[in-house]
Amino acid sequence: MTHDEVTGDRMNWLRAGVLGANDGIVSTASLVVGVAGATTDRAQILVAGLAGLFAGAMSMASGEYVSVSSQRDAERALLAKERQELRDMPEEELEELKEIYEGKGLDSGTAEEVARQLTEHDALAAHADAELHIDPDELTNPWGAAVASFIAFTVGALLPLAAIAFTTTSLRVPVTVTAAILALALTGFVSARLSGARKRRAVVRNIAGGLIAMGVTYAIGSLVGQSIG
Ligand SMILES: [Zn+2]
Repeated sequence: MTHDEVTGDRMNWLRAGVLGANDGIVSTASLVVGVAGATTDRAQILVAGLAGLFAGAMSMASGEYVSVSSQRDAERALLAKERQELRDMPEEELEELKEIYEGKGLDSGTAEEVARQLTEHDALAAHADAELHIDPDELTNPWGAAVASFIAFTVGALLPLAAIAFTTTSLRVPVTVTAAILALALTGFVSARLSGARKRRAVVRNIAGGLIAMGVTYAIGSLVGQSIG
C-alpha cells in the first residue's frame, strides 16, 4: 500500500465522519426545534430528540453496513473470479498483465519483465491492483463503517440536544439554532477543505440548508402544536 492510498483512505473516513456529523446536527436540531414549536415541555422535547438521535444513528449505521457489505461482496466475487482465471489460464493472465503495463506506457520487454516479477511475487495481488484496483488485504470492513457513522451522527446530534436541554424556555430555540449554525459552519468548512472546494460557498450553502430544515420543522411544529393544543 502506498502513502497516497493511506492518505486517500483516511480522507474518505474523515469525509464520511464529517458528513455523518452534519446529518446529526441538521436532523436533530430540526427535530428538537420542531417539537419546541409545539410544546414548552422540556421532557417531551428531550424524549423526541433522543429518539431522533438513536433513530438517525441506527439508520446511518445500517445503511452504511448494507452498502459497504454489498461493495465487499462484489469485490470478493471479482477476486474469486480472478483467482480461478489465474489457476485455469496462467499464460493468458500473464499476457493480460503485460498488456496492462504496456498500456500504461512501458515498452514490451519491460512490461513483460514487470508482469513476470509481479506474478512470481503475488499473482492475485498484482491482478487485483492492475485490473480491479482492489487491495485484497484491505477490503473495507462493514462493521467499522457502521460504527464510525453511528458515532459521527451521534456526535453531531449531541450538540443541538445539549443546547436545547440546558437553556431556558424563551432561549431554547434561538440558542439551538445558533449552536447548529456554528456547528454547520465548521462541518461545511472542514468538508470543503477535505474536498478542495470553495470554503465560503460551502459554508453558506451548508448553513442555508440547515436553516431551511429548522425553519420548516419549526413552522410545522408550531402549526401542529396550535391545532392540537
Ligand atoms: Zn487477470
